[in-house]
Amino acid sequence: MAELLQLKPQLQGIGFTSPRTRKRMVDRLEAAGIKNPLVLEALRQLPRHLFVDEALAHRAYEDTALPIGHGQTLSQPYIVARMTEILLENQPEKVLEIGTGSGFQCALLACLIKEVWSVERLEPLMSKARKRLQELGLRNARISHGDGQMGLSAHAPFDAILVTAAPKELPESLTEQLNEGGRLILPLGDKEQTLCIFDKNNGRLVRKDIEPVYFVPLLPGAQ
Ligand code: SAH
Repeated sequence: MAELLQLKPQLQGIGFTSPRTRKRMVDRLEAAGIKNPLVLEALRQLPRHLFVDEALAHRAYEDTALPIGHGQTLSQPYIVARMTEILLENQPEKVLEIGTGSGFQCALLACLIKEVWSVERLEPLMSKARKRLQELGLRNARISHGDGQMGLSAHAPFDAILVTAAPKELPESLTEQLNEGGRLILPLGDKEQTLCIFDKNNGRLVRKDIEPVYFVPLLPGAQ
């Protein structure tokens, strides 16, 4: 696992929200069962308020999902932290995220992992997210526009793939683009969804269910 990338103090935007507000959010995540110290530290540093509209910035450190436009949402910090913690268990060096949205999950991954790729189907969200990561100096993350159901074959295979929108069924392209020993994490289902892990061992997939979740649906095609 790469060491935690330290954001420069001026990029952390600490001046906007008091360090206490963020510490409170991270304390709550710890109380809710998030254990990985690197994940907790990265969440202490990352300016979540820069990933939502200014009008919502004051709510950025509540443990709640927030709208990011186009009917999409930035996931609740607890679930972002939980998925990241599960992903780090296998010490991946190259990961793919499907559903960039605001770019917050992607930025968190970029603080913790050497090489991060992310795909978003909605162009306006993709360009905003790309700009945010550039401004934060997170150069190890690359965001592209496309249908993430197909994965990102040009850069496959990946040590881990994280999907932040829910497909009804397991997309085969994603499991194909997973390295041996790799892990796919995704919400699976329609109205009732479960956060699932699929580990690839000797070419076979082993499924483990984590907890019930609610994500926006994984939709076909890019716009
Ligand atoms: N990880 C995001 C959460 C975004 S919500 C964040 O940290 O903010 C899920 C995102 O998945 C939405 O932006 C939605 O447009 C996107 N999405 C849905 N289907 C997709 C697909 N097939 N390919 C790529 N992105 C998709």
